[in-house]
Amino acid sequence: MINEQLRGRIERVLFSEEAIQCRVAELADRIAGDYCEGGFARDSEQRPLLLVAILRGALVFMADLARRFPMPVEYDLISISSYGNGTAPGAVRLVKDLEKPIDGRDVLIIEDIIDTGFTIEYLKRSFVARNAASVRVCTLLDKTARREMRVGIDYAGFTLEEDAFVVGYGMDYAELYRNLPFIGVLKSEYIR
Ligand code: IMP
Repeated sequence: MINEQLRGRIERVLFSEEAIQCRVAELADRIAGDYCEGGFARDSEQRPLLLVAILRGALVFMADLARRFPMPVEYDLISISSYGNGTAPGAVRLVKDLEKPIDGRDVLIIEDIIDTGFTIEYLKRSFVARNAASVRVCTLLDKTARREMRVGIDYAGFTLEEDAFVVGYGMDYAELYRNLPFIGVLKSEYIR
């Protein structure tokens, strides 16, 4: 089985499948409470909360989170890439934009992991500039060791204090490991 092959390349598991699922359920409850009961929704046309997942890492997280919500939601996808060496550090580029305008909408950005913070800061600014009614951020992992931008994170699944490169539950190394149900650290021999 392919997962067994990939599993063997993991040095240690940081967050088990059970721990992730439990935390996702807690997050969904909290978010639903804030948006439904708290009267947070400010969209004058009463359109549902719009989840925006950042491709490709946040797909798995959004799929699980969305299915835990008791209220209607819509979702859209956006793709961002960091510029490589030789350009300004932290410069990001839009690879795939949203399908529809977001003016007046309550938007919740779904991210797998926030590292330096450049990606999320860029997106937040962009969505505010597009006149979203509200923009909030939900990340599964808040990796604090290399943070460069001061970002407001509204919902975080777990804080990761060590500077580890993690894979699984949507996150990749060279496009692999996204379909592992847990989050772990790769054995060094599998990092080129
Ligand atoms: P930031 O702009 O530095 O915050 O980068 C966030 C993006 O970097 C995430 O959406 C991931 O795609 C990627 N990333 C950062 N750290 C990791 C990691 O440990 N594993 C996998 N991807 C990561």
